[in-house]
Amino acid sequence: MYKHLFGPVPSRRLGISLGVDLVPHKTCSLNCIYCECGRTTRLTLERKEYVPTNAILSELNEFLKDNPELAYITFSGAGEPTLHSEIGAITRFIKKEFPQYKLALITNGTLFFLPGLAEELKHVDLVLPSLDAASEEVFRKMNHPDRDLKIERIIEGLTGFQKNYKGQMWLEVFIIQGINDTENEIKLLREAIHRIQPTRVQLNTLDRPGTDNRVKPATEETLQKIAGFLDWDTEIIAKFTSRIQIAAYNADVENTILQLIKRRPCTLDDLCSTLGKHHNEVNKYLGTLLNQNIIIAKVMERGVFFESLKREI
Ligand code: SF4
Repeated sequence: MYKHLFGPVPSRRLGISLGVDLVPHKTCSLNCIYCECGRTTRLTLERKEYVPTNAILSELNEFLKDNPELAYITFSGAGEPTLHSEIGAITRFIKKEFPQYKLALITNGTLFFLPGLAEELKHVDLVLPSLDAASEEVFRKMNHPDRDLKIERIIEGLTGFQKNYKGQMWLEVFIIQGINDTENEIKLLREAIHRIQPTRVQLNTLDRPGTDNRVKPATEETLQKIAGFLDWDTEIIAKFTSRIQIAAYNADVENTILQLIKRRPCTLDDLCSTLGKHHNEVNKYLGTLLNQNIIIAKVMERGVFFESLKREI
């Protein structure tokens, strides 16, 4: 049983990906209104060794010793991985001991202005930061940041990082209807993207209701319009492709989730604790089942519940 590793998870963007979670649920510098992992319970900019580095290295040693087939080892989780002060040492370890694996980092990009972080991340082959706003007002509405974070500093940090970074940067922009899809905000986002110069931009939106009922997904038409306007290499990643096209899609995991949901509606937390699986891993399956119209999501008092469209009698 691994405490800090999860998956391998089926990821449309990354293929077969082993997840490494470096911070406890939910430690983050943001508290985004669309976060699929629930509310941030520790909102912080403090970098420290949130979980023991040795424990992570020993789990990695154990998992990788049989040389499993993986497209990426991905730092992601229910929180912000760059808050872990030893991320540089961990990436160095993997590249030294298991050089055959590529490393990816899913990050909110808020700490890239910190001196030294670029050096710590030089072994990462692919960084996937997010940027949902370019004005301070929309940034606060959308991402509820730590009070010391300023959007201009974050954009500067991403721009400076990208200038010397040797790997690829895929910048994710999450669009929420009525919040960051206004003409003015998209114009500012375009300017920020042209400054940062990511390898590509990926547009995303909600695939389920947020815990806040006012949070609505953008339509496909809006995403297409924004993609055209950004004037950059942009793809829309909002919808999952068919399950059989996703590497590492595990039919047994899917069936177990479906069986549980068929018996009674469950929240993400219910499913994670019953299955003993990480939030991100279960989220991947839920996202796919939602997009295939096999399950639906409903907002109730205790949170978002997932229901099967076919109930067992
Ligand atoms: S940055 Fe990611 S983990 Fe943190 S609150 Fe936003 S969506 Fe959730």
